Amino acid sequence: MPFSKELLRLKDEVLKEIQPMLSDVDAVAEANTLKVLDAMRECKVAAAHFNQSTGYAYDDIGRQKLDELYAKIFGAERALVRTQFVSGTHALATVLFGILRPGDELVSLTGKPYDTMQTVIGYEEPSPGSLKEFGVLYRELPTVDGKVDFEHIRDVITDKTKMVEIQRSRGYSMRDTLTIADIEAITAEVHRIKPDCICFVDNCYGEFIETKEPTQVGADIMAGSLIKNPGGGIAPTGGYIAGKDKLVELASYRLTAPGMGDELGASLANNRLLFQGIFLAPHVTAQAVKGALFAAGLFAKLGYKTLPRETDKRGDIIQAIELGSADKLCAFCAGVQKYSPVDSYATPEPWDMPGYEDKIIMAAGTFVQGASIEFSADGPLREPYNVYLQGGLTFEHAIIGILGAAQAIEDLNG
Ligand SMILES: *Cc1c(COP(=O)(O)O)cnc(C)c1O
Repeated sequence: MPFSKELLRLKDEVLKEIQPMLSDVDAVAEANTLKVLDAMRECKVAAAHFNQSTGYAYDDIGRQKLDELYAKIFGAERALVRTQFVSGTHALATVLFGILRPGDELVSLTGKPYDTMQTVIGYEEPSPGSLKEFGVLYRELPTVDGKVDFEHIRDVITDKTKMVEIQRSRGYSMRDTLTIADIEAITAEVHRIKPDCICFVDNCYGEFIETKEPTQVGADIMAGSLIKNPGGGIAPTGGYIAGKDKLVELASYRLTAPGMGDELGASLANNRLLFQGIFLAPHVTAQAVKGALFAAGLFAKLGYKTLPRETDKRGDIIQAIELGSADKLCAFCAGVQKYSPVDSYATPEPWDMPGYEDKIIMAAGTFVQGASIEFSADGPLREPYNVYLQGGLTFEHAIIGILGAAQAIEDLNG
């Protein structure tokens, strides 16, 4: 056994303690699998939808069926699911640029947005091509004690406010992740203040964590990445948008061109991977959540601060652990890398990643490049040396990788 006796003892203890939480996660996965299967039957998904297409790809029944299926699963009027979205950021930016016009105002209700969205908005300065450069105004409501400042939502929504952005996951901040109940309350409050204000949810990392999605509880439109939860670990690339008919239509004119929208775009990847991916997504998301629960439990026992804690209600698949030193952060990532299926012989090194202030270290031995639904970890080399752990296509792999990370830290001392 490559792991110390003490670690293996703690592993058994943690698995016993988190058993009730693991059962809850299984129950959500089962409910969501039923939801997906019902939608697949209603949409009459068949093998004929798995073909690739070429050129303009008019009448690509696979592409159209995938849009219909996502819309049904997410309780939305319409969806746009495309491998032509290069990432989650691209899908989110397509919503913003598709809907907002010069003079409109966008308000973030969840404080500072995810790093890559800041460049899209033109957050610090009007970055080339940003919303700000096009004359779209931006402001934000800072979070208070890690929570949305609910009482002050009415103060930031004005005549000019066309859209609010609500980021479900904490991303790499230490604020609380939003639950579906939180999103329901926030969107209700926004629509009470201004009924035509568009509630846009950044749903990255949130899909299938609960049995409802934002578009089923008041969000007008949402977007996310296919190399996170909804791709089930096998979608090779892509993103999705789902929401109100007219809003998704506007976004589709930005993805392709005005007048063309969702009526063309070849299925270059094998569509089966996207259908099978969304079928697997509830289960795979559950595997990732179970891994996060195990990591929270184990590292709490080892004396570290974890966020969320194993007993907290979860809104995404991310687990933060405060490691406290650069050595431990690097050892953690080396341990994760060692027990990865790809590039396991390599040792991760901190590097200057474009757009980030501090050096970043990451462990990512994934089949799909950068896929964070696969077991992976990263963190910036700065106080308090948090590592962010996410994903895991199988719970078994997550357990082994987390033990590997803990062992690598233990080995630092001798
Ligand atoms: C992952 C993520 C994004 C998009 O990131 P990509 O790497 O472009 O897919 C946006 N917002 C949040 C909260 C995310 O977690």
